[in-house]
Amino acid sequence: MSTLNLEHNADVRSDFEILSQQVHGKPLVYLDSAASTHKPKQVIDALSDFYRQDYANIHRGVHELSKRATIAYENGRESAAKFINAPDSSQCIFTRGTTEAINLVAFAYADPLLQEGDEVLISAMEHHSNIVPWQMVCERNGAKLVVAPINDNGELEFDAFLACLSDKTRLVAIAHVSNALGTINPVEAIIEAAHTRSIPVLLDGAQSAPHAAVDVQALDVDFFAFSSHKLYGPTGVGVLYGKQELLEQMSPYQGGGDMIRSVTFERTTYAPIPAKFEAGTTNIAGAIGLAAALDYVSQIGLDNIAEHEHRLLEYGTHALSSVPGLKIIGTAAQKAAVLSFVIDGIHPHDIGTILDTEGVAVRTGHHCAQPVMKRFQIPATTRASLGIYNNTADLDALVLALKKTVEMLG
Ligand code: PMP
Repeated sequence: MSTLNLEHNADVRSDFEILSQQVHGKPLVYLDSAASTHKPKQVIDALSDFYRQDYANIHRGVHELSKRATIAYENGRESAAKFINAPDSSQCIFTRGTTEAINLVAFAYADPLLQEGDEVLISAMEHHSNIVPWQMVCERNGAKLVVAPINDNGELEFDAFLACLSDKTRLVAIAHVSNALGTINPVEAIIEAAHTRSIPVLLDGAQSAPHAAVDVQALDVDFFAFSSHKLYGPTGVGVLYGKQELLEQMSPYQGGGDMIRSVTFERTTYAPIPAKFEAGTTNIAGAIGLAAALDYVSQIGLDNIAEHEHRLLEYGTHALSSVPGLKIIGTAAQKAAVLSFVIDGIHPHDIGTILDTEGVAVRTGHHCAQPVMKRFQIPATTRASLGIYNNTADLDALVLALKKTVEMLG
């Protein structure tokens, strides 16, 4: 492992021009990376260079700009494949993000497969994106959504999870890392247990791909979804990885241009993967920006990022314990850099509003995980989430602003 210390690496922070501004007269402290990360100048430059120099629609053009754009877009796919160690780039489908990737699997894989009485197994810590699409396809087919419980630390109850697997389970869909709690799920054991029963597994990688190295082949995972905008890349693009035989057996998700082999009014045949799942003009610039973001984080090194964020998580967990009445929600032994908390007698929205006046950007609410809030019997949390540009000074500013909040409202 390299010895790069992100904490003292001012270069990384200076790549994010947006962070050097003042908000309400205070230096901006950005602690909302789980919702979306900022973009380094390398990504912004890649987007702007593409639009200024090489932009055209892809795949169908013989002219020079179209050729350049096509090469850049397909290079983006290669970068995505390399990033998660996919065997072949054709197994990486560009989507709008994690949400669309999960919907694609729900409607193109699960919907035709599910029958009355079949089950889809998820966990109690899922983001709505990994709940609602399964509810929709279960409803259409008379199938049942089964939910594996979590304990008071926000960890999957693994024995209960195993007990939920049955000969009716057609798919396991689970978060690699929870956005609301930070829990890192034991995905190797989950996949092994499911595969023993020949059940495929989809991992929602929205919160894992930005924070630690993911190897889809080592995991032997069947589907893996992630979003560019949480990974220092542009919005509106993400990736669905799938095993080749699964993607090939699936019907298209949407019909339109670019996903066909031939069309007549009588019959249409489809292009091979990945084009079969990329109907219409896709987010061409997004794919190119994502590639720049993946290059950027790969240069820093995912191991360095994981180590840096873990150090900050430990520092922040300790520092928050000095705030009167504060309770962290999500205390799993294996945790990513998410600090969700409540403070006695103060509503999270009030906390967020006062922090904002101090220049500290956090997220408050249910974090698109209402069942998690219900599990902990709270309406909402305040969530500070960390990225590569954060440092201990950001956490000190958070704690100071929280103490001020408690003095004012507690
Ligand atoms: N799953 C998890 C765990 C997430 O954190 C998010 C984003 N908050 C999503 C899915 C959905 O991602 P997107 O909005 O980029 O589609």
